[in-house]
Amino acid sequence: MESQKLKPIYSADEIASTVGRLAREISRDYRGQQPILIGVLKGAFVFMADLVRRLEIPAEIEFVTLSSYGKATETTGRVKIIRCLQVPVRGRHVVIVEDIVDSGLTLEFFVKYLLRRKPASIKVCALLDKAARRKVTVPIDYRGLSAPEAFLVGYGLDWNENFRCLPGIYALSPEAIT
Ligand code: 5GP
Repeated sequence: MESQKLKPIYSADEIASTVGRLAREISRDYRGQQPILIGVLKGAFVFMADLVRRLEIPAEIEFVTLSSYGKATETTGRVKIIRCLQVPVRGRHVVIVEDIVDSGLTLEFFVKYLLRRKPASIKVCALLDKAARRKVTVPIDYRGLSAPEAFLVGYGLDWNENFRCLPGIYALSPEAIT
């Protein structure tokens, strides 16, 4: 029943090798430094956990919780901060860790939020890029995999709090959503 709703997009192995590549790119660029990695919850929690274990440099970890979807599968366009940043980032090198960039509105909002806190630099690491759906231009410095326009679940991504624990990434069939 479940498998009829879920079409495999990326396997756990494909994700693992992508996460390894992203960790190598970050480690190369921040050699001799200690950036703060800020994960955007909840979706990025699995990605963040895997990414930091593949880094070859020391890093600090923080999380914020942002929401623009509510229970829907389309962004409302209004980003809310559910849990704000708990540490100062002034003068620090920051890497934002996002699960998926879709319209780009969440990332645009969060970059502006961070810029007001005067970090030394901001870079963005995103596991999945739904480039075809972008509404605003946002930079992705460390880009994992391109994503189809479908609604994706698994590897931390949910639909109504379901499917986060799947090790791979799947497209949820539109019939399952309606
Ligand atoms: P954006 O603001 O770029 O439209 O959306 C960013 C956020 O929306 C992501 O961090 C993620 O939480 C959520 N999102 C976007 N596309 C998907 C998707 O296909 N599946 C799930 N589960 N969440 C998504």
